[in-house]
Amino acid sequence: MSKHGNEQTAYDAVIIGGGPAGLSAAVALARSLRSVLVVDAGAQRNLPAAGAHNLLGREGIAPADLIRDGRAEALTYGVEFADATVRDARREPDDHDFVVDLDSEQTVTARRIVLATGLVDVLPDIDGVSQAWGHGVLHCPFCHGYEVRGRRVGVIASSAPQATHQALLFARLAKETAVFANGIEFDDDQRADLGVMGVAVIDGVVERVDVDGRDTRAIRVAGAPYDVDAVVVGPRMTARTELYERLGGRPEDHPMGVLIPTDQYGATPVAGVWAAGNAGDLAAMVATAAGTGVMVGAMITADLLAEDVRAVRGGISGLARGVE
Ligand SMILES: Cc1cc2nc3c(=O)[nH]c(=O)nc-3n(C[C@H](O)[C@H](O)[C@H](O)COP(=O)(O)OP(=O)(O)OC[C@H]3O[C@@H](n4cnc5c(N)ncnc54)[C@H](O)[C@@H]3O)c2cc1C
Repeated sequence: MSKHGNEQTAYDAVIIGGGPAGLSAAVALARSLRSVLVVDAGAQRNLPAAGAHNLLGREGIAPADLIRDGRAEALTYGVEFADATVRDARREPDDHDFVVDLDSEQTVTARRIVLATGLVDVLPDIDGVSQAWGHGVLHCPFCHGYEVRGRRVGVIASSAPQATHQALLFARLAKETAVFANGIEFDDDQRADLGVMGVAVIDGVVERVDVDGRDTRAIRVAGAPYDVDAVVVGPRMTARTELYERLGGRPEDHPMGVLIPTDQYGATPVAGVWAAGNAGDLAAMVATAAGTGVMVGAMITADLLAEDVRAVRGGISGLARGVE
């Protein structure tokens, strides 16, 4: 880290978002002795859940504990943290580096930006759903299916292909599974597939989900309660793309929502800007989000070194850092 000409703190990389992806990118960069600031607003996507599953070595850990431990590891390598929201990131026309404004009124500069800003699950607008989200209301059979094995599961459809996919996967684990069509049309093929797994399709509009705290008790259609132990919904997954757009990027539509486009190593089409985790991959789970973070950290390390070597060979003193 160094002071820039106008006294802003200058980092090799500013990582926006301190979930599994951002923390993993930070550790990879800091282990290569790069200066890193992680700015995190503290809204990791799985915080409403009791545990994070499919995570080798930390199976079932409370999401907040995973973040706490990841931050502690990153600190041991010298990563700096700001508990804040980045409100703007830009590249000044005459400047080599990015300028990043935090809502804490701090402004820093960075040679590279990592967008590890995650996504927002846009839930169906049905009473009870947001109240029980992440506990009685679920979306992912791999994250929570095992926890509701042998129970009664109701899948509220937002789209026929997605609801069919979810219901078939949950039906292998649950005692009873039903799809609540909620105005969505299911074709004969979808109904036949669901029939093979014993999944009923209940037509009609869902009025509300009856909840008790964060537990779900019933799905109501035309006044009639259908008893359930868990409700599955299909949120629209919208990556947080505002900063990417401010940096000149164009988000990409996806059947499940919207995301930041990247190559297989996390580089976006905007030079110097990388994306990791759910920001660039709507299907990323904790382990895979962390995996893309490590990859992005490694690729930026190599990219910075290549730039430094070019600068030295081109005789551009002052640009090369760490290789003089
Ligand atoms: C209810 C639920 C349960 C889940 N359970 C599991 C599970 O059991 N196993 C599993 O593998 N996956 C699970 N997932 C998926 C898991 O949450 C994601 O894979 C993971 O959180 C993605 O990590 P990430 O780092 O990309 O994003 P996140 O963890 O969402 O972190 C993004 C961070 O960026 C911050 N941020 C965003 N914008 C800004 C900004 N402008 N400035 C500063 N900070 C910003 C946010 O506040 C947040 O802290 C679950 C998801 C949900 C919704």
